[in-house]
Amino acid sequence: MRTVNAYAATSPTEPLVKTTIERRDVGPNDVMIDIAYAGICHSDIHTVRGEWGPIQYPQVVGHEIVGYVTEVGSEVTKHKVGDRVGVGCMVNSCGTCTYCLRGDEQYCAQGNIQTYTSVDPADGTVTQGGYSQAVVVNEDFVLRVPENLEFEKVAPLLCAGITTYSPLRHWNAGPGTQVAVVGMGGLGHMAVQIAHAMGAEVTVLSQTLSKQEDGLRLGADHYYATSDETTFAELADRFDLIINTVSARLDMGAYLSLLTVDGTMVNVGAPSEPLPVQVFSLIPSRRSFAGSAIGGIRETQEMLDFCAEHGILPETELISASYINEAYERVLSSDVRYRFVIDAATFA
Ligand code: NAP
Ligand code: ZN
Repeated sequence: MRTVNAYAATSPTEPLVKTTIERRDVGPNDVMIDIAYAGICHSDIHTVRGEWGPIQYPQVVGHEIVGYVTEVGSEVTKHKVGDRVGVGCMVNSCGTCTYCLRGDEQYCAQGNIQTYTSVDPADGTVTQGGYSQAVVVNEDFVLRVPENLEFEKVAPLLCAGITTYSPLRHWNAGPGTQVAVVGMGGLGHMAVQIAHAMGAEVTVLSQTLSKQEDGLRLGADHYYATSDETTFAELADRFDLIINTVSARLDMGAYLSLLTVDGTMVNVGAPSEPLPVQVFSLIPSRRSFAGSAIGGIRETQEMLDFCAEHGILPETELISASYINEAYERVLSSDVRYRFVIDAATFA
């Protein structure tokens, strides 16, 4: 076992505090990763505050992790000491169900083992995430970070990147398709860049125009404020695909009305409250309302390689561990440009 420094939540309402956690010994198929950077995802906040249901405390979150391999198990073949690697939202899955076999480990029939809050089959403990100095992960769930991606900015690709890449691919964003991205936050600003690189015509729907310049610079063709009443009339029946990244409840009818015949609205945003849908928002135009969870491991590697090829990275603000609680408040007030990344050296 290795004792490492970490930041943990101790209750749904108190700030995260510095603590130590134990990392298991490296098993035959494991790699030890000394964490260099960890991103802050809005899911971390939903989780520690109990918004997705009760959790066990203390809990370390963080599922956008990059670092260096410092030790490998005896049977490890995919990674070696010194490699630059990443870990996202999953650290294991059953490996034998239909979904795992086809590379959709995130939809594992047994439930995937999440990077935090899951029971780890390796040792029966509750998994602890990336706000820490090191992590031990099965080699199959460790990604290679392409050389030309600036390491300090890569971590958010492991969640925000793949969560938007996967539905954009699944619903065939590309030349000739009209894609809308709702919410210009961590996920949203990745969706804009990736959809643009795939060749789609991209429209951002944000609450205000305050981030318009950034949206257009990152590849959006159009940018609208949802607080402007004329927006929904102007964009009616426009989009083939809407990626909704919003972490709060929205009026679904208003957004579904923006879909063309056969269009799909995909929720990746995961508010705890229900999002009621009037079926007549769907029936007359054969529209779909869908959801999507992160992406599989093979697809996550494909996304990293795609971002390397197209020069896509998140816009990040590097912070020290002691700033995590303030960063949370800024995420909650949409005051993030566009992802906080913790410098793991500051866990020391
Ligand atoms: P984020 O950085 O906070 O971005 C969310 C954006 O939603 C904000 O920037 C804001 O955009 C908009 N928004 C926030 N509150 C709103 C409100 N009350 N009304 C309208 N718009 C609002 O969060 P994130 O890290 O991108 O995560 C977004 C959501 O995705 C979270 O719920 C997270 O848990 C979820 N998520 C899901 C998956 C998955 O696998 N499905 C993976 C990762 C994250 P504007 O300022 O532009 O309006
Ligand atoms: Zn996330």
